[in-house]
Amino acid sequence: MKQIEFGSTRLSSVVETSEPMLDPSEIFPDFDPQMAKDGIPWFGPRFYDATANKIVIAVQSFVIQMDGLNILVDTCVGDHKLRERALFNDASWHWLDKLEQAGFRPEDIDMVVCSHLHVDHVGWNTRLRNGRWVPTFPNARYLMSKPELDYWKSDAGKASMMRTGDYVADSILPVIDSGQADIVDPDKSLNEKIRFEHTPGHTPGHIAVHLEDGGEHVVLSGDVMHHPLQLRFPNWSTSYCADQDTARATRKRFLSEWADTATMVAPAHFPAPTGGTICRCGEHFGFRFAGETETLT
Ligand SMILES: [Zn+2]
Repeated sequence: MKQIEFGSTRLSSVVETSEPMLDPSEIFPDFDPQMAKDGIPWFGPRFYDATANKIVIAVQSFVIQMDGLNILVDTCVGDHKLRERALFNDASWHWLDKLEQAGFRPEDIDMVVCSHLHVDHVGWNTRLRNGRWVPTFPNARYLMSKPELDYWKSDAGKASMMRTGDYVADSILPVIDSGQADIVDPDKSLNEKIRFEHTPGHTPGHIAVHLEDGGEHVVLSGDVMHHPLQLRFPNWSTSYCADQDTARATRKRFLSEWADTATMVAPAHFPAPTGGTICRCGEHFGFRFAGETETLT
């Protein structure tokens, strides 16, 4: 997508990385290696590196420019954070430079919306200053859904977090301590053009962000899906989902709702151009990336 406009809204993506990242059997418990040989387009080189046996995952943020506000949705992994996954540990992707190239300095951001509080969505909430993690965006309110924050403060959430590294301590608590956090209803409407939808399962308080302007409708769907393979196999929840059954039900409902409509769906981890439209193909779903003529199924 890089940048699209609809009505008076401009939506930009700021990509931290997009690369073959995960062994499909790590993320999808239902993956069978034979499937990669079955001619499914989502196992083509654009979405899957057969040599490395890794699916392509983008990590990116979106900036919504709407009615004079700059709203940042999700903040990637971040630089210099101590993480269990080698790729994420002490990273230096220089995402902040990419944000600036897209036209935004940290002080320009008015609001940060966290689709959910996973390690790859909250990293740039904070940055290191004089040995302390401080909010990256000094003028921003940081919006998080109440059931999401409640979960990560619970024993189950704390246990789940430890597989990644304590990102709550370095990327979430500092914005709460600074007084910049707003803990909101997961179905909150910000105004007539932007609303949240509670889409639980991947995490308990996960939200999708709906944008409507100029007669067009775009949904930033966060991690309702991680890879286009979940259109082909809508039953596939990930090993990272807090509740795989609820994630499955949410995903299938979401896909059914927007299939065969003009709504553009932009899942956080789909590689560029990220956004596209969904179609129903019998028992599963297809996807046509924005600006392309072929629907992949
Ligand atoms: Zn994610």
